[in-house]
Amino acid sequence: MKPVLYIIIPCYNEEKVLPVTAPVFLKKMKNLIDTNRIANNSRIMFVNDGSSDRTWDYILKLAHDEEHFIGISQSRNRGHQNAVLAGLMESKDMCDITVSIDCDGQDDINAIDEMISEYENGAEIVYGVRDNRDTDSFFKRFTAQSFYKLLNKMGVESVYNHADYRLISSKVLQEFSKFKEVNLFLRGMVPLVGFKSTAVYYKRNVRVAGESHYPLKKMIALAIDGITSLSIKPIRMITGMGIIVACISFLGILWAVIESVIGNTVSGWSSTVCVVCFIGGIQLISLGVIGEYVGKIYLEVKHRPRYIISERTYEEE
Ligand code: UDP
Ligand code: MG
Repeated sequence: MKPVLYIIIPCYNEEKVLPVTAPVFLKKMKNLIDTNRIANNSRIMFVNDGSSDRTWDYILKLAHDEEHFIGISQSRNRGHQNAVLAGLMESKDMCDITVSIDCDGQDDINAIDEMISEYENGAEIVYGVRDNRDTDSFFKRFTAQSFYKLLNKMGVESVYNHADYRLISSKVLQEFSKFKEVNLFLRGMVPLVGFKSTAVYYKRNVRVAGESHYPLKKMIALAIDGITSLSIKPIRMITGMGIIVACISFLGILWAVIESVIGNTVSGWSSTVCVVCFIGGIQLISLGVIGEYVGKIYLEVKHRPRYIISERTYEEE
């Protein structure tokens, strides 16, 4: 049986990009159908992430002109991770496999062939991994690499140099739909589902048009989100730091007592200020980290919907 493939493509203000990449995706899909790799009722699903330009109009036009194109629209901009999740959850009952990929042509679509081969060989999750970053600027390369290293150090299991280009079978998605958290970091969450997984390697290109929506500030936010959503290591580190500081303080007290007994005490303004600043700084950082987790709990207990689909180019089943 040939699998039904849904390619999930998040789009946010991509009116310049879609006219270039949509035909490329379609060509790939037709080619896969013609070579009997996937079923004819496979689809390319665009997820409009509340774009403020004409992206959704363009998706409507694509879906009108070509049956392999379909689209859903989020009621407002919720971010890349939520857009991908919306597409995956929406398509999980309609297909056998999904491939999520960015719409900007950076990820090499030819890797999909290999992903499907791996699926045929029994893998349920296939991660697309960049084998080099030659096309990225030095700065982007450096920050991205630090990002993965930091994640791993902080106890988040994630595949090095893998973004959100991956194949997931509907079997895995059924299980994944039971993960109810609203703080999303898909690359750290998917490995938690388990099942047989593997990786394929590809070259990453430059964006065909428009600009990246992930400047450094957003990357840092994503890293902090990923860490605090998936790991409690930072809190453990605070505990460790607390123990170390407590030991040092204990030695300090001993020293102070001994000094005063010997009668060496002079007006110790500098040392007092240093100690107060040091302890104060550590306490503030620790409170901040704990606050980050309290904030996460706050967001989780509200159980707000993770995505809201306002429009579809097809009838809901
Ligand atoms: N994207 C989205 N919602 C957002 C930001 C981005 O759906 O709020 C989409 C965007 O259209 C693209 C993908 O996520 O298809 C990756 O974004 P981008 O190419 O800007 O990130 P980069 O590749 O530079 O990390
Ligand atoms: Mg991109």
